[in-house]
Amino acid sequence: MGKEKLAIIGSGNWGSAIARIAGNNVPRFSEEFDQKISVWVYEEEFEGKKLTEIINTEHENKKYLPGVKLPENVVAIPDIGEAVKGATALVFVMPHQFLGRVIDQLSGKVQKGAKAISLIKGVDVKGADIHIFADVISDKLGVSCSALSGANIAPEVARDQFSETTIGYRSKAEGEMWKRLFETPSFRVSLVEDVAGVSLCGALKNIVAVAAGLVEGLGWGNNSQAAIMRIGLLEMHEFCIEFFEGVKAETFLMESSGVADVITSCLGGRNKRVAVAFVKEKKSFDELEQSMLNGQKLQGIHTAKEVHNFLEARNRVDAYPLFNNVYKVCWEDHPVEKLTEGI
Ligand code: NAD
Ligand code: 13P
Ligand code: CA
Repeated sequence: MGKEKLAIIGSGNWGSAIARIAGNNVPRFSEEFDQKISVWVYEEEFEGKKLTEIINTEHENKKYLPGVKLPENVVAIPDIGEAVKGATALVFVMPHQFLGRVIDQLSGKVQKGAKAISLIKGVDVKGADIHIFADVISDKLGVSCSALSGANIAPEVARDQFSETTIGYRSKAEGEMWKRLFETPSFRVSLVEDVAGVSLCGALKNIVAVAAGLVEGLGWGNNSQAAIMRIGLLEMHEFCIEFFEGVKAETFLMESSGVADVITSCLGGRNKRVAVAFVKEKKSFDELEQSMLNGQKLQGIHTAKEVHNFLEARNRVDAYPLFNNVYKVCWEDHPVEKLTEGI
């Protein structure tokens, strides 16, 4: 059998952190993995140069993960077809709002029999239908797609601060391959047979993180934060049980993908930080995203809207009062002081 050839599709804050890990890991498995890692970069100019040129000459994604060196076997490629050419292992890592267009561009370009993994935190909603992105990728590209999600604030992982993550695998063998690619002494990978649970935890916790930020913005204390985390985790779990089959409670309660990601995201993720500013500075999320995140993207406010639209189509909005209140505060000028009404 030939070697696995890796392509990473996306190169933001998390994409760059994970490219660093994979780039450092492949030399340990030189029989199994091709040593060159292709990374598709959505091309743009940064400080007067092309971002791909900066990454390939200075070995740093200066826009999205400044201050962290990338290994030299990580190669930035602006053409998506070229980036995935011959790839047998595809890592999808981009803000969820962009995946639809990217998948369309990949149609007919992915090698038969390739495996994939989604690191995207979000859900795909069309009316009364909801899908995890691992399934969207599987269906549209005809590949087997696992999911990785956990308490993984990217700049911390990129600095090798002790963290854990969870991979929901399609087959045990695929899960073990992804684990070899991503696990390091400071980034521990646990494997579960629950692609949907891992994916949904990652998506839904972003709504809870927005709620945590709103609460902190109001000046409320630690008890309120803890209550939001607990109620949020319950709504996440209930949502999965109601709308998805086979999701495991352990994925929520025992894994990094569940309770630990809720905690870290509510303590210090981008969704949380921007939601604090939304309350304190009384500016729009769009404005704050631009001024605070330098091109990085919020997921939680969009997921709140998508989940709301889905629940409305299913006539189940009232069963998820925290999700609903976050939606109303973010998108309908609902007073933030009413965030906890009915929860
Ligand atoms: P990011 O928030 O840094 O977003 C910026 C990226 O989006 C850049 O690569 C940019 O080129 C790209 N982009 C901008 N416009 C685009 C377009 N029109 N088409 C395609 N790409 C475009 O991204 P990220 O932090 O790498 O997050 C990717 C996914 O990983 C998200 O779902 C996020 O929730 C998840 N995640 C992020 C973190 C984190 O700490 N950053 C941790 C775990 C998971
Ligand atoms: P934010 O997108 O809110 O920064 O969350 C990052 C994350 O998913 C941490 O696990
Ligand atoms: Ca209704």
